[in-house]
Amino acid sequence: MKKKVYEGKAKVIYKGKDQNTLIQYFKDDATAFNNKKKGIIPGKGVINNFISELLMTRLKDINIPNHFIKRINMREQLIHKLEIIPIEVVVRNIATGSLVKRLGIQEGKILSRPIIEFYLKNDKLNDPIISEEHIIVFEWASHSELEEIINLSARINDFLTGYFYSQRIRLVDFKLEFGRYWSGQDSSLMLGDEISPDNCRLWDLLTNKKLDKDRFRQDLGDVDIAYKEVAYRLGVLSEKEFKKVLKDDF
Ligand code: C5P
Repeated sequence: MKKKVYEGKAKVIYKGKDQNTLIQYFKDDATAFNNKKKGIIPGKGVINNFISELLMTRLKDINIPNHFIKRINMREQLIHKLEIIPIEVVVRNIATGSLVKRLGIQEGKILSRPIIEFYLKNDKLNDPIISEEHIIVFEWASHSELEEIINLSARINDFLTGYFYSQRIRLVDFKLEFGRYWSGQDSSLMLGDEISPDNCRLWDLLTNKKLDKDRFRQDLGDVDIAYKEVAYRLGVLSEKEFKKVLKDDF
């Protein structure tokens, strides 16, 4: 029996075999608006496991340190154990979501340059937006860690924007989490969590059709098909498998 370390909204974390590893299990559960809306997206866990495997592997290829070690099965992956920094880093290329609500910016406006925002990971406080000053003064991360987080987030955005674009998908915005990987007395920064349609906004390049969790948040329907379409375009799901999804559904 694996020992559960933590259960989140979309994932469960178990102890790994080695002290420095964990197993990340992807659930089909979906939540939105800080847990106020709950549901199941059939097959989501499997799809996100595969998509995240692909993207974390590609990021490793360009020397972005991240926690992914290997996929174990359909829903689980082996990861490095990190001390999670309690900050959600949001990178935006196109205005939508909370940015539009908070600042009254025009929906869909392409930003003159990407914006990086920080939110405190705290459900009780509704993940409030915070500034770099808060992060330093309250010691959620050191000055050099913050600098590295910003540099890595910008590189990840540049890379993923191009990667998705080549599959005719606009990377509108996304959320990242970072952590400290400890080895003896030393720690190094690594990207953690997952990269999937759960935490990225992905729009079809030609039609702007939403291919991400906004379909669940906004009750747009065909949520599981949208996730599978992303997997298909990224080459994670074969054409045959994707056609079967469409046939079974209609
Ligand atoms: O809601 P908002 O516009 O701030 O979301 C920005 C991006 O961060 C979206 O891609 C959303 O999916 C992601 N996000 C997330 N987890 C949160 C909040 C936002 O993955 N708790």
